Amino acid sequence: MDPKGPVIGLLGGGQLGRMLCEAAAPLNVSIAILDTEDAPAKQINQNSRHVNGSFKDPAKVKQLAAQCDILTVEIEHIDTTVLEDIERNRVAVPTADDSRATKTVAIHPSWQTLRLIQNKYDQKERLREWNIPVAEQTAIPSGDAMLTSMKKISDRFDFPWMLKARRDAYDGRGNLKISSSADLKQAATDFASISCYAERWVPFELELAVVVIRTQDRRGNALRVVPYPVVETIHEDSICSKVFMPPRHVSTATCERAQQLACDVVKHLAGQGVFAVEMFLTSSGDLLVNEIAPRVHNSGHMTIETVPYMSQFKAHITSILDRAIPEKLEPSVASSIMINILGGAESDSHLRLINKAKSMYDKDMEIYLHLYGKKSKPSRKIGHITITSSVGIERLVQLVQPIVDVADEIRR
Ligand code: ATP
Ligand code: MG
Ligand code: MG
Repeated sequence: MDPKGPVIGLLGGGQLGRMLCEAAAPLNVSIAILDTEDAPAKQINQNSRHVNGSFKDPAKVKQLAAQCDILTVEIEHIDTTVLEDIERNRVAVPTADDSRATKTVAIHPSWQTLRLIQNKYDQKERLREWNIPVAEQTAIPSGDAMLTSMKKISDRFDFPWMLKARRDAYDGRGNLKISSSADLKQAATDFASISCYAERWVPFELELAVVVIRTQDRRGNALRVVPYPVVETIHEDSICSKVFMPPRHVSTATCERAQQLACDVVKHLAGQGVFAVEMFLTSSGDLLVNEIAPRVHNSGHMTIETVPYMSQFKAHITSILDRAIPEKLEPSVASSIMINILGGAESDSHLRLINKAKSMYDKDMEIYLHLYGKKSKPSRKIGHITITSSVGIERLVQLVQPIVDVADEIRR
């Protein structure tokens, strides 16, 4: 395909990239992807501009940049040095006469934002400077001092507390709950080569997430942040398993506070597009920010069906292309539940869940199946099911229970 419109270069071609491609197609926007040849996003989006390789390889990132107008990401674990280089020094483009042509390539979100968010400890320090409420954290030295430091932290935080890797964490990989002094020695061994920190345990009532669109005109003025409806996220074994909209048993006032808090966070982050803010709601009604994702997010998958005129995927593309976004994002349904399809013990364990979703019918709900074209592995996200309804969330929970039961059985 030889596109006439702008070309978006996408770093990473997993399921988030795949859903970005699904949203881009009807807009006639081309997406060139840097990832392995069989990546989920490439499977549904064929064009001659894709680059095969790793989004951590600076040469490949430059190769992708040379053939697009805007770079964006579906994953935050990118080499930001090369992004900084592309922004500061422009990027060389191949020419027929071998002359040294260069061009500018916009990068959204900014490499500064990606660099900050990649380090979860630095991210939280910055949130605190911005007066955003977060759980108390403290650095842990590496080497011989590690175990002594962890003993002191245990006295200060009491048990349990959370040991977290600063970098490369996702789906709870890199997190370890420290429940008693018996855990310390093994934890110090397991995390010996990892730069890590300690976080005070948050005895939260539930977890909320808000996806926010951020746009700004080219002169850096007229910043706008527009939140999606707040959702409740359920994490089991540190991996998101379900999402509920609206959150169950949470007042409208608290939902509005969560949206405001997410907007306060996202205002500080350079770059356009979609960001997600994960937070804890405590029994006393306090909201603490857990972390930011500088990209489309698992908690926003249901927006494909709940906000069909502007899903988070369409919003990301619309925003980075400087096109108009709505002033408000209201759901077109009363309630929705998203269930992640996670790989089970056997390579085909998840088929029962897919078949269950396909076989269910009720006049009060619509069921949408999304599969990502990924091989199954235990706990791997290989698809999701979104259910929407015009009835309230309590009734929808009852209607959906047979599907949830199968999802829970596969995970066990
Ligand atoms: P993601 O896939 O969202 O990027 P991650 O690997 O970066 O996840 P976190 O978001 O830090 O991990 O934590 C994963 C989950 O672990 C949280 O959603 C929450 O359920 C639990 N958790 C994390 N930190 C704490 C804490 N301080 N106290 C209690 N539970 C926590
Ligand atoms: Mg994370
Ligand atoms: Mg998280």
